[in-house]
Amino acid sequence: MADTSSNMFGYDKNPSNIIPTKYTLDSKIKFRCHPGVSCFTACCGNIDIILTPFDILRLRRLLNITSDELLLRYTTPTYIEKTDMPGVKILLDEEGRCPFVTDQGCTIYEERPSACRYYPVGMANFHQAGDEGADAEKFFFVVKEPHCKGHEEDKEWTIREWRADQGVDLCDEMNNEWMQLVMRRKSYGFQANLSEQGQKMFFMVSTNLEKFKSFVFESSFLDTYEIDDETLEKIKNDDVELMFFGFTYLAGALFGAKTLKIKKEKIQAKVQEIKASQGDREKEAEKVYEQLVADRDALMQELQSDNKK
Ligand code: SF4
Ligand code: SF4
Repeated sequence: MADTSSNMFGYDKNPSNIIPTKYTLDSKIKFRCHPGVSCFTACCGNIDIILTPFDILRLRRLLNITSDELLLRYTTPTYIEKTDMPGVKILLDEEGRCPFVTDQGCTIYEERPSACRYYPVGMANFHQAGDEGADAEKFFFVVKEPHCKGHEEDKEWTIREWRADQGVDLCDEMNNEWMQLVMRRKSYGFQANLSEQGQKMFFMVSTNLEKFKSFVFESSFLDTYEIDDETLEKIKNDDVELMFFGFTYLAGALFGAKTLKIKKEKIQAKVQEIKASQGDREKEAEKVYEQLVADRDALMQELQSDNKK
């Protein structure tokens, strides 16, 4: 059994804070977080808050800024889940606090990142290495850190109710395919590194949909892949559709999944190119061979004339 937990939001920093119990959607927990708790906003610092593509989309809409501005002002690069897949996390201020926290609480609460919504309930998937998702055993776990007084509150909910209240189901729906890419990479281990080009592609789709859109519509992308008109229309006008299309593209580009069809003429051109390069290599080898024969003959002649002397 390989541990490919789909929790990617930093709880593994200190596993001793995880209650050693597997929870289901119907399990009950006692927890409440509100401005009246003595620890209010204590958890909004010294923490790695990785941003998913959907988090970035939400945040840039709320703040009305571009992905470039968001990345520059509020994030710092990181690698996701100890893989070689590059992403971003929130850039904390000099005191180690989240830039969105004030004494009154979170200033982006309605659009807060997935990691902040999940806390303190994480979700994990365990499955056989190389078998992404199919027979995954899914369960929930609860993080109980000493500073968090929310666990001392009287409010009791099921995990299902807690998740609905926090808007976690929508996050899961939006993040799932992207998380699957990370999990697939993680399950491969480091036998094979992601190429530099692969890393750049993953980073672009994950953090900057405007750039990915330009890549699709302004490069040779559409000369290479067969994309139907309906899909083109959708991804041109809807960023969520564009994001999902990006995940589909990454599954093919990084893991060879046959998700997008390459145009026939592109394949034929590639075959010709390979044949031509093989032909060139053969010609080159012939030349080298002829040169070796000529050198050998010259040497033989030299030896023969030396013998005659
Ligand atoms: S985004 Fe909001 S909830 Fe999340 S750490 Fe920052 S202030 Fe806290
Ligand atoms: S530490 Fe716990 S109770 Fe306190 S603000 Fe954070 S989540 Fe809420």
